Amino acid sequence: MNEFAQVFAQFQDHLAPRLDVYEQAIYLYLLRHTHIEGKREAVIGFKSARKKLAFGTGRAGTSPSEGVIYEKLRGLEQKGCVKILSTERAGTRIEVFLPSEMPGLLPVATAISDIALEDQDFFSVPENRKLILEREEWRCFYCLAKLDENNHVIEHVVSRPEGDNSYRNVVAACRRCNNRKSALLVEDFLRSIYRDGILSGDEFAIRIALLARLRAGELRPVP
Ligand SMILES: [Zn+2]
Repeated sequence: MNEFAQVFAQFQDHLAPRLDVYEQAIYLYLLRHTHIEGKREAVIGFKSARKKLAFGTGRAGTSPSEGVIYEKLRGLEQKGCVKILSTERAGTRIEVFLPSEMPGLLPVATAISDIALEDQDFFSVPENRKLILEREEWRCFYCLAKLDENNHVIEHVVSRPEGDNSYRNVVAACRRCNNRKSALLVEDFLRSIYRDGILSGDEFAIRIALLARLRAGELRPVP
């Protein structure tokens, strides 16, 4: 999702329900003349701008009066959406905040922990290695052999330098698989242990499906 698609989704999902229709229209107008143009603030003359806000909500279907606009602007300020900086010859100078900058508006905790998870090193950091082992339920990701504290390795599905240390690319494995896989492509390696009868057909199919889920970021370690 690009940046503005994200801003729009955040506006509609989290901010719009807290604003009345005047505030929504004013906020979108301000957003159009600030962040959409790569700026944080703009000087808006509401004498003419009020006619471009496209209300159907003014008295008798007309545009809202300047008085109403200033009242709603103060409402937006109280809700932490804008900051009225000064009154100038050309109009009112207003700083506009993005939904992500409004304290408490977005479910931030989740967003931050998601980002943190993506940035984590699950290969070098001991506590994180443990989480990978737990994610694998103490079994080799490849052959399902039982693992313990001393008899396991944390290894890269795609070897470095192409592969990284994210939870999408590291798994817990037994030493035998680790040695045997070496530089083989993981699919080829899984096929080889299937041919050798170490994995059943079902187990092989499940491993391949899990591999796709791993790469898609669906196998998240739980701290
Ligand atoms: Zn193994």
